[in-house]
Amino acid sequence: MPTTRDYYEVLSVEKTASGEEIKRAYRRLAMKYHPDRNPDNAEAETKFKECAEAYEVLSDSERRATYDRYGHAGLRGTPGHDFRSMHVEDIFSMFNDIFAGGGGGGRSGGRRSQGVPRGYDLETEVELALEEVLTGASRDVEFKRLDVCQTCSGSGAKAGSSPVKCTTCGGVGQVIQTGLGGMFRMQTVCPHCKGRGTVVTEKCTNCRGNGRVSVKRKLTVKVPAGIQDGQAIRVQGEGEPPPPEVNAAGQGIRGDLHVVVRIQDHERFEREGDDLLLASPIGFTQLALGGELEVSTIDGTRTLTVPPGTQHGALFRVDGAGLPNLRTGKRGDLVVIAQLVVPRKITDAQRKLLMELAKIDDVAVNAQSESAWEKIKRKVKGT
Ligand SMILES: [Zn+2]
Ligand SMILES: [Zn+2]
Repeated sequence: MPTTRDYYEVLSVEKTASGEEIKRAYRRLAMKYHPDRNPDNAEAETKFKECAEAYEVLSDSERRATYDRYGHAGLRGTPGHDFRSMHVEDIFSMFNDIFAGGGGGGRSGGRRSQGVPRGYDLETEVELALEEVLTGASRDVEFKRLDVCQTCSGSGAKAGSSPVKCTTCGGVGQVIQTGLGGMFRMQTVCPHCKGRGTVVTEKCTNCRGNGRVSVKRKLTVKVPAGIQDGQAIRVQGEGEPPPPEVNAAGQGIRGDLHVVVRIQDHERFEREGDDLLLASPIGFTQLALGGELEVSTIDGTRTLTVPPGTQHGALFRVDGAGLPNLRTGKRGDLVVIAQLVVPRKITDAQRKLLMELAKIDDVAVNAQSESAWEKIKRKVKGT
């Protein structure tokens, strides 16, 4: 069964995203959810496959146009892979070219210099309190990334030795596999040198021949006011250098770091876009008589005028007491919901007054409840 989620949502891109943006979003998410990085995590595998499905459609301009017009229904019956039943390795090699790190260059003909090589994007998360959405905030983030090994300058070879040409692929980094008696030919990454074209005979002790080492990196990230939960801040050039099979020395363009912002739930306010919702407890007498109600906003207090005869659940809009819009900075509103509170305990004096009130109210309440009972009785009898 294909996914029912919105493909743009799956890849966390805007509907207007360019082909390059879609490609990069997919590359980033496929790395994030790749089963190698999430062992024994079925949820990650599902997400990995969902991303592949979204990418297959959105990377094809014709299918994307159909999807934009008719949604999932428009693609029903059209050719496409059933990623759910596919092996992860097969999916990965299907979109092999985009993982090569090359800026669209790929590895055609074994030359990897076409285009400028680009490293992988990385992703990390920060958490913000709702109050910080009002002002914006800065956060120290710490993350791990692969960097070029300084000892061997990325070659993976021990000092004094150099990598030698891979004999399996003849230095090309790719091997051709044939199947069905020569019916098809498939180019795949050389299993011996993993696409590098060279193999290290004496390994660098610092990186154990990988040419890359995992390094901790610390950064301060500014989160703008008005950011929404799930939005990401892109810190350009803080991702990884091009992988060793693309450029051993890591030359080229570094990937980016995407800092995904999570907004904590607030004990009082509920967020709705730039507006805030607040349930404000209010007594029966205040609702009936009307009056002034003081409410705490996210950054102060405001006084509301409650008209006499206000009903439970009535809404009051406080202009400009919401959160700022990320783009315009204009603040949304605070929407206050009047919530009738019935006291659990009352004093003798209160009881006396309520009894007085009940005497006057009795007629109306009883009349209404009797007719209501009559209605129910009729329903039960089926008349
Ligand atoms: Zn090294
Ligand atoms: Zn090889």
